[in-house]
Amino acid sequence: MAADTDIAIIGGGPVGAALALALSTSDLRITVLEARAERNECATPAERARDPRPIALSHGSRLLLERLNTWAGLHATPINNVHVSQRGGFGRVAMSAADADVPALGYVIDYKELFLTLAAAANAMSSDYREGARATSLTRIGASEGGSECDVQRIDYTRDGVSASLTARLVVVADGGDIEGLAPPKTKAYAQHALTARVSTSLPHNHVAYERFTQDGPLALLPFENEMALVWTLPPARAEKLLDADPATFCVALREAFGSRLGEFNSVTQRACYPLNLRYAVNSAPGVITIGNAAQTLHPVAGQGFNLGLRDAWELAQILRGIAPQALTNHEALSHFRAARRMDRSATLAATHGLVHLFSNDFLPLHAARSVGMTLLGSIEPLRNFVARRMIFGARG
Ligand SMILES: Cc1cc2nc3c(=O)[nH]c(=O)nc-3n(C[C@H](O)[C@H](O)[C@H](O)COP(=O)(O)OP(=O)(O)OC[C@H]3O[C@@H](n4cnc5c(N)ncnc54)[C@H](O)[C@@H]3O)c2cc1C
Repeated sequence: MAADTDIAIIGGGPVGAALALALSTSDLRITVLEARAERNECATPAERARDPRPIALSHGSRLLLERLNTWAGLHATPINNVHVSQRGGFGRVAMSAADADVPALGYVIDYKELFLTLAAAANAMSSDYREGARATSLTRIGASEGGSECDVQRIDYTRDGVSASLTARLVVVADGGDIEGLAPPKTKAYAQHALTARVSTSLPHNHVAYERFTQDGPLALLPFENEMALVWTLPPARAEKLLDADPATFCVALREAFGSRLGEFNSVTQRACYPLNLRYAVNSAPGVITIGNAAQTLHPVAGQGFNLGLRDAWELAQILRGIAPQALTNHEALSHFRAARRMDRSATLAATHGLVHLFSNDFLPLHAARSVGMTLLGSIEPLRNFVARRMIFGARG
């Protein structure tokens, strides 16, 4: 029995779809299983309001999306400057696109639009993107190909309430969910929720993105079209309260936490709340590789999750493109990928996690050290450039 497909990608979200797209010009047979059945929906204003998650894309991600021919279809608002501050402390960091010698430090796009654009492109290019297909378990089974024995993966899934299965030489898990047969990821709850919304302000954003560290947690305001996209990290009880607060009360609370740099907050859209966890895969089973949120789910403080996942997808595609289908069951290729991605993944994870801890602690000496650190970072140009390039291109930037 030969495998039904060469590579099965579980999870056709932005990272899984990007991988399918990056492999679409290879000779490999790709099958994507995506639990949602909404690819054919367009990103209507109502849909966007239901999940108003902004994604800050780095310049490096823009370059990768251009190579995948999907950049031109996205409505992206450029970030020309980033302003970082802490409530009740001195020291500011201002970074500009000129510091990093790029046209824009980053771009803000809508998660839903990103998902739908990549999924539609993957579907148009690779013939087998199965929407509404939820993987439930993975089992390693013996197979014989061309007279020799090898192991393949059987994926059980449900689609429209009907159980089905598929065999693949290699499985890439890009879903962030739990599947029987996979080692559960290590999880640490942050005891924080991220509250997202769009807000309008009395002053224009001038393409500046703000990150403000408050006692409750980091608060990001990102320029998006002619409004600001908000990602506000809060203790769960306060987040729940603000989720349902009337718009005027919400705007006052936001003004108090953020300050007056954008003038007054005039209105707020429907809000959404995401419980935050740090999750990372510990070890993959043979013939299985994890990328994107399935490999590491980060705190959104530095807006790095998708950027990192896209680099996973791109590098994996480059490795897989050079492998004959029969060799996909050979584990050396997978070890090569893990080694290639180790530094970028662990550096981004450690930096993000460290940032959350550094700025969630009100111990006085630490508070003062943060202010000094921010002042140094803000005033030493080579140091600022170093940080900017790592944010833009990853740990090897
Ligand atoms: C509030 C917030 C703000 C963020 N801001 C940023 C930012 O500014 N910049 C940034 O880079 N990142 C940001 N992120 C992180 C970013 O959203 C994720 O890193 C990104 O969505 C990861 O993409 P993914 O495809 O790996 O996973 P997902 O987007 O989670 O997609 C996974 C897909 O798998 C499907 N799926 C799940 N289970 C199964 C199954 N069993 N079988 C089949 N399919 C399945 C799901 O339907 C989904 O479509 C933010 C996250 C949050 C919560």
